[in-house]
Amino acid sequence: MADRRIPNKFGVIYSIASVTPLWRGCLIAMELLGKSKEELREFCVALGEPAFRGAQIYHALYSERKSDVAQVTNLPAALRERLSREARVTLPEVKQRFASTDGSVRYLFGLGVAGERAEFNTADMEGAEKSGGEKTSRWPKPASVEAVFMPSEGRQTICISTQAGCAVDCHFCLTAQLGLIRNLTAGEILAQVMLPLEEHKAQLAPQTNIVLMGQGEPLLNFEPVMAAVRIMLDSEGLGISPRHLTLSTSGIVPGIERLGQERVRPKLAISLNASNDEQRDALMPINKKYPLSALMNSCKEYPLRTWEHLTFEYVMLGGINDAAEDARRVVRLLAPLKRVKVNLIPWNPGELSYRESSAERIEEFRRILVDRGVPTFVRYSRGRDVMAACGQLALLQIDGSPLSVASPQ
Ligand code: SAH
Ligand code: SF4
Repeated sequence: MADRRIPNKFGVIYSIASVTPLWRGCLIAMELLGKSKEELREFCVALGEPAFRGAQIYHALYSERKSDVAQVTNLPAALRERLSREARVTLPEVKQRFASTDGSVRYLFGLGVAGERAEFNTADMEGAEKSGGEKTSRWPKPASVEAVFMPSEGRQTICISTQAGCAVDCHFCLTAQLGLIRNLTAGEILAQVMLPLEEHKAQLAPQTNIVLMGQGEPLLNFEPVMAAVRIMLDSEGLGISPRHLTLSTSGIVPGIERLGQERVRPKLAISLNASNDEQRDALMPINKKYPLSALMNSCKEYPLRTWEHLTFEYVMLGGINDAAEDARRVVRLLAPLKRVKVNLIPWNPGELSYRESSAERIEEFRRILVDRGVPTFVRYSRGRDVMAACGQLALLQIDGSPLSVASPQ
């Protein structure tokens, strides 16, 4: 049999002419969600269409949030018909919605297997030494991830996941219990923003904030995360302002350095969570790989834009990291940095052996920082009653069966 495969940057496209019509769609359907404008232009050229059609598809997909190519009426009918056979836009299935009494909605998304081949480098991951840090190539496994839509006065905030599960293993975080299930593709990351926006479009506030603070460590899935971020921040894409998009990291130093080199990038938040190495080693094993000296140095070198500050998150764990002495050490750690802000996050309980800090402790901690010139805020998580708060996005197993969740309404 003659070789019918045409390799290109999108993978292998099978020669359309040599395949029976029945199989055409199955063999070559190209996932459009997550593709950049340039990739969509190249895709159109590969189909023998003018490149500007790619820009039109880009606009329709992200700016108009049209997930059905048949609805893109400014494309010629013949192209629409061809795209409906040879391309696809896969939105995750909403497996469940949990509505919190505070107005936030937690989504459980089912991600299928029918993605494209996901390539990722295991070198950055915990335990990668064992596997030799080789480049791995796998077909996406089925997974569930969660996102939370939080409306408030004048804006909505959407918290999204960048990986299913997480390999970083912070001991106070429920997501860590899952381990890493898999990296998400750029399309799967974007869909977590697009679906809630579409669902709430009748009552959207003017400003949309996005936080990459759901499941996963974004800097350990760098390329897909950045591909999604570029589309979110593009005025012809989702049109989110860079001031309203925040990436939170547990402190992956090479990732922070790499992020600083990106022309288009979100704001950066660092999960500090401890005031010295001994404490941080015990809470976040990643600290053994990237200790505070290296982390703080990468923060010092980080090229902040004129309007930007670095945010440090600090989960308050009763009797562990919430003493006045800890607050004073945090002040000393942050002293060499220019523009910083601290968010104290009261710990959201789960079945882990920690306890919440008292309100008095949190207030005392905040006062010490503020008195020494560090702007500090207490961030009470939304959606606690549906386990949608920080660190709680882990309560459904991959097959969808609940572990132990307070029954949602
Ligand atoms: N992996 C990234 C982003 C996701 S976690 C990171 O660690 O930064 C988002 C935030 O939730 C982090 O600041 C983390 O420290 C915090 N967090 C984790 N578990 C928590 C819990 N049980 N209660 C409150 N915050 C928690
Ligand atoms: Fe992963 Fe962040 Fe949870 Fe740590 S806190 S296990 S990095 S999701």
